[in-house]
Order: sequence, then structure tokens, then C-alpha cells
Amino acid sequence: MRGKDISKGEDTGEDAHPLPDLRDLVDTVPAIMSYFDRNLICRFANAYHFGWYGRSPATMVGRHLREIIGETDFEARQPHIERAFRGETSAFEYRVPNHNGTSRVSAIRYVPKRIPGGVDGFYILAFDVASLHDRFQSIFDGTAVGFWMLDVTLARAWIREYGAEGPAAAAAALSRHPSLVRMLLDAMPIIEINHKAGSMFELPVTQATGMRFGTFCPDESLAAFREQLCALAAGNRSFETETTLRTSTGRPVEVLLTCAFPNDDPGQSAIIIGTTDISYRVAKEQELVKTQADLAHALRVATLGEMVVSIAHEVAQPLGAIVTDGAGALRWLRRPEPDLKEVEEALDRMIAECNRASAVIARTKALAMKQDFLKTDCDINELIEETISVVRRQLASHETQLFLDLQSDLPLLSVDRVQIQQVLINLFLNAAQAMLSQSTARHLRVATGLIGSDICITVSDSGPGLGADAEKAFDVFFTTKKSGMGMGLAIAKRIVEAHEGTISVQPGEHHGAIFNIRLPVLPAPPEGQDVQETTRLSG
Ligand code: ADP
Repeated sequence: MRGKDISKGEDTGEDAHPLPDLRDLVDTVPAIMSYFDRNLICRFANAYHFGWYGRSPATMVGRHLREIIGETDFEARQPHIERAFRGETSAFEYRVPNHNGTSRVSAIRYVPKRIPGGVDGFYILAFDVASLHDRFQSIFDGTAVGFWMLDVTLARAWIREYGAEGPAAAAAALSRHPSLVRMLLDAMPIIEINHKAGSMFELPVTQATGMRFGTFCPDESLAAFREQLCALAAGNRSFETETTLRTSTGRPVEVLLTCAFPNDDPGQSAIIIGTTDISYRVAKEQELVKTQADLAHALRVATLGEMVVSIAHEVAQPLGAIVTDGAGALRWLRRPEPDLKEVEEALDRMIAECNRASAVIARTKALAMKQDFLKTDCDINELIEETISVVRRQLASHETQLFLDLQSDLPLLSVDRVQIQQVLINLFLNAAQAMLSQSTARHLRVATGLIGSDICITVSDSGPGLGADAEKAFDVFFTTKKSGMGMGLAIAKRIVEAHEGTISVQPGEHHGAIFNIRLPVLPAPPEGQDVQETTRLSG
């Protein structure tokens, strides 16, 4: 027997050897196997084509791929054909029509045939995975999670282009050009959705195939998908986040988005995204945040009210004395012979009364501001991340892109977590609100670092900045907002100073505001303090 080159179906003229005829072998494989040359003309097809398409392999040889699979499928295969001619294997799943009018899901591979200096053509291998697919389908459809099978060929091609420069380059490009994320989502065809996704997104399952996934992604979800694409570029195995999608009628749906990337096969062009409806939970969380904010607001107003009443009460007495002394001094002055000694004494008393009034105001303010601090050891980066999770949704709804630059291995701080969190929330939301009116990118950057024995937290934004208002920003009641109270930064300053730290604001290099907080890392308690504490507790 003589060996044959199966791709050409020709006798190679090699010497006989004990191997069976490879064409017979190829014909017995329960899979479609064919070879197309560089002009996409079929040069070989195995016998399995007969069982599948109902046509003999011989009638396929010499015909163009477009003619064999039809115009629509041919168009859909273009990205895979292009990949094969670039010398890469392309793997995907596709529903292939059968000769009996039905269709079966096949796992298809386009494998390039390389020759010196290029690619000569490619092999097409198609395995019938319908039974596996049916099993998968029963799970796919029977779950409470909305699943989307998406064709990410274009996204993978884009990532490959940036892949040479590394995932960080891809991430930077996505951050610089948010429209790229939109473009990739709008060009991402839906292969299939399950019934749950259909009911969640008001979309008949039969109409989903071929629609673009971007239709269901409002602009506030772009940040989440940017992170997802970065995870894909970084070769991560999975990704999970919360975001807002929209139904076919435009109704927003809060979802937990989960996604697994089969990165053991980078040629795989389909990914599955899971969407779990968390609208109810999010609504409850938002209610809670609003109630907390209302409560904090009410407490501030109450504190202010108390302050005003107590100042009015305590200051009334010295003010009365000042008026009396002033009137007395005038009387002494208006005498035919003014008694300057009495006038001097009255003026001395007036100064003393004024000092008393100032002291009353200072003491009342200190009392009104007094709160018990609950200091605990705190990893500032952890606290920042925790705080971000509280305001993440508000930042997303203000379309604010967040960048974290947190220095690792910082020493622990001894702070009141809730109070420092209040400072951070105020700075984050002020920044997001300040950027609201601008159409340019809204960037919020949070950085940490160590200067000497102080931990620094920098919160900067790309908004309009404070300009000349910077001097007044920390004053009580200074606000430029319609419904602002002008208390946020004043309270932030008080909290930071109560932690022996400082807070300041400066303009950004080109635009925006940079708030700097410095908090001292207090020395560790002296050796033995714990022992004493333990002794006291156990004693
Ligand atoms: P409120 O938010 O109630 O106005 P704040 O004390 O928190 O009170 O802020 C005082 C003022 O400082 C704001 O009204 C705003 O004018 C200004 N401000 C604060 N943060 C920023 C920022 N990041 N960019 C521009 N202006 C800011």
C-alpha cells in the first residue's frame, strides 16, 4: 500500500508501509473533515459529509466554500477564515444545518495548513456536539440565572492587537477611549440566551440571536464592561461585578454579572455571561443609604439648632453687661466733668465681657462638636475600598471613572473608621457632583502613600476645581450648591484635626481639585500596655 497526502487525496509516491489507507481512516471518523485551499476551493472532503449534508464528498471538491455553506454562513465565518489565513487556529461552536432540514450544534475548528512562507489553506473539522450541547442546554435553560452566549471574536481580535504590548496597555487604551468599550459591545453578536435572560430582559429567546449585546448595555454599565475586557486581556479565568443593564424596552435592571473565560483555549470565540437580577437588594440598599444620609442630615441640623440656642442663651448675659457698661461709660463721659477713671473701668469690663462671650462661643462649639471617638487599628487601603463599595453606585450613576493608586504595606492607622469613612464619602461625592456638568471624561483618582510618619490620602478629580473658593471651602455654611448645606468639608476638617491630621485642597495641574489628607501613624502602645489591660480586665 502507498501512503497518501490526505489533504490532496493524492498518491505521494512514498514507499509502501504498514499503515492502513489514511483516506479510509479519515472516512471512518465521526466528524466532518475537509480542506480548502487559499482560494477557498474545496480540495478534500471525507465521507461523513454524506451522512451530514446528504451530498457525496466528490460533489464538494472543486467548489467554493461560499457555494457550499451559503452566503449568510459564509459571511459569519469571515473572522475565522481571516484568522486561519493569519496562521492561527480558530475554534467556535455553530448550529450547522442538516440534510433532513434540522440543524445540530457543532464544535468547529479552522486549522491552517502552514507552508514555508505562509499558509496554503486550512482544514475544517466539525464535531457533532449536539448531545453534549443538549445536556448543557438543559442546565442553561433550567437555571435562575440569565445566561447570554456572546460571540467575542472582535473583542479577542482587539485584545490580540494590544496583547503584544501587554494587558496594561489594553487597559490604558480602554480607559483613555471609553468609546472603544461601546464599539466592542455594539459589535458583539448574541449567539443565544436562555429563557431566564429572555424573561429578565423582555426579549423573546428566538429573537435574541444576532442582536448586538450593546443594545442592553446603558452608558453607566461601560465602566463594568471595561473592567471585564481588562480581565479578559489579563488572561483572568473569571470576572464578577455588579452593574446596571437595560431590557429591550429600556427598563433598567440591576444585575450581578458573572463571566468565565475559557482561557485554556484563546481561540474560543464564545463566552457565557451570567446575569442575576439584584434589583430588589439594590433598591433596599439605596433606601438604607438614603435613610442614613437623611438621619445624618437631621442630626447635623439638630446639632446646629442646639448650638444656636445655647450660644444665644449664654451670650445674652455678657452682651447685656456690655450694653450696660457702654451706657455707663457714656454717662460718665457726658458729665460736665467727665470721670475718665469710671470710663476706663467700664471699658475694661466691656473687654472682659467680650472675651467671656468669645469663650462661651468657643466652648459651646466644642461641646456641640464633641463626639466619642471609637478608634481601632485600620488598614487605610481597605477602608478606602470599603467606602468605594458604599458609593460605587452613586459614582456610576454620575458616570465617574474611578482610579485607585493605593500603596501597599502601609502601616496601620488608629482611627474612628466611621468618621474617616464620612470624610472620604464627602470628598468622593463632592468630586462626582462637581464633574456632573462636564461632557469630558470624569475621573476620580484616589491615592495613598507614606510621607515621613504620616499616611497621605489624595482625592483628585478632573472637574472644574474650586478656583478662588478654595479658601472658603472648609468654612461652615460655604456652599455653591442649590441644596447644599456647606457642612461637609467643615465637618471633614474637624474630624481629620481630631485625629491630629490635616486636610487641604489645591488646584490640579491642568484642572480639577486635589484634596490632601495627612493622618499621623501614632506610635505603637508601649510594651506592657496590653499586659496591664489584660490584668485590669481579668482582675
Ligand atoms: P456642600 O456639599 O453641602 O456644598 P461641602 O462643605 O461638602 O458642602 O462643600 C462646600 C463647597 O465646596 C461645595 O458647595 C463646592 O462648591 C465646593 N467643592 C467641594 N468639593 C469640590 C470639588 N471636588 N470640586 C469643586 N468644588 C468643590
